[in-house]
Amino acid sequence: MCAADRFRASGKFRVNANHKVLDAWLLLLCTGCGDTVKLTIFERTHVRSVRPALLDRLHANDPALVPELLQDSVLQKRNHVSLDWEGAWRLDTGGSGHLDLEVADVEVRFAARIPVRPVRLIADACGLTRGEVERLIADGKVVSAIRLTGKVSGDFTFTLKR
Ligand SMILES: [Zn+2]
Repeated sequence: MCAADRFRASGKFRVNANHKVLDAWLLLLCTGCGDTVKLTIFERTHVRSVRPALLDRLHANDPALVPELLQDSVLQKRNHVSLDWEGAWRLDTGGSGHLDLEVADVEVRFAARIPVRPVRLIADACGLTRGEVERLIADGKVVSAIRLTGKVSGDFTFTLKR
């Protein structure tokens, strides 16, 4: 054990069978020392209670299952982990035509439910600094039905008046 508290997925699962009772883990690697850490997917569960499709994917080390499970809030709570989304998203504005508009209604669509600060996203999208965006919000020149000062992870719209 080392002091690092960040892990990355190894891409492997482990399933233990004890008679008809199964445990399943997602294996992570410590970013500090490389040790393997196990995240419990389920434990001491009768084989009949486990979906056969899930079991197949676990045995096959299905790579698509890793992000699916890691985004599962039940699994996150059970294992006391959260996802580090730093650098995990990028913004696709589809051009720069919007930068010249005096009033722009902007729709933000999320391809994945990644928590993002709207202030940062709006700054990136509109070529502004975060301080400028915060000032525009305070002045009522950036308005939205959602709270723009926290984090969001789902689609929203905002209006920017320059
Ligand atoms: Zn370590």
